[in-house]
Order: sequence, then structure tokens, then C-alpha cells
Amino acid sequence: MYPLTHFLVAFFIGLIMVKYGSFTLLQALYAGLVGLLIDVDHFISFVIKKDDFSLKHAWNATVKYKLEERTFIHHFPGFIIVSLILLLLYFIGGPWFWILLIGYYSHIFLDYFNFRKWLRLKRKSLNFKEEGFFFKIPIYEIVFDVIFIALILFLLL
Ligand SMILES: [Zn+2]
Repeated sequence: MYPLTHFLVAFFIGLIMVKYGSFTLLQALYAGLVGLLIDVDHFISFVIKKDDFSLKHAWNATVKYKLEERTFIHHFPGFIIVSLILLLLYFIGGPWFWILLIGYYSHIFLDYFNFRKWLRLKRKSLNFKEEGFFFKIPIYEIVFDVIFIALILFLLL
């Protein structure tokens, strides 16, 4: 999934927490940002492997050339480590337990749940290039984003 989708879904879940009085708007925003920032590992991995600090090159390597830049945080060892950190945060208390939980687990769910297969959708995507950045966004993900933007606006207004 693209960064926008990760942000929107985690932010939406955070906003539900705001609605029920367990979160502030800023904490919902942090949950969205955590959801988005999990993918920074792609960039770090690219910089280490290719010795290239270009965000554009790293982005295109993932989108256009399908280079696998996910690090341990996207795989089972990272899942266990983050879950242990969450367990620790749970006992410490405070909002970061929920912020990290929403951001991380929603991110992993979106990355690994096969929506296209589950919804029996065709492999169609919107392909374009903007400022040298390649985009190949599945149509269902665009629909997904529109729905979540509408839900977010509904909760905010
Ligand atoms: Zn990811």
C-alpha cells in the first residue's frame, strides 16, 4: 500500500478513539504518522544497499522495479519485537501504546492482507509519473483512499 493509505487508515482508527474520548486529535495524527513512517525502512534499506541517498531512486526501486526493500520490521521478527515493545508500553501506560499499536498493526495488515484476491478484483492500476516518481496505484486502493477520506471528513465535521 502507498503511504497515503497507511496514513488514512491509521488516522481514521485514531479518530474513532477521539470520538469515544480515548484519544486527542494530535494522538490520532501521531497514529497516522506511525502508520506512514513504518515504510521508512524501505528508504534506509535502499541507502544501505545502494549507497544512494536519493528518495526518488529508492521510491522508484520499490514501485517500478519491485525491489524488495522491506526490512525485519515488516517481517515476523519485527512483528515480535514491536509486539514486545507494545507489551512493555502497555505496562508503562500512556497514549503511546495505542498510537504505536494502531499505526503498526494497521500498517502490517494493509501490507499483507490480499484485498485484490479477497474482493476478487482485476489487476488494474493507475500508472503515472510525477516529478520523476513512478506511481502504480491499484484501482481498489484509490477507491479505498476515497472512502477513508470521506469517513475521516465525516468524523471531523
Ligand atoms: Zn509497508
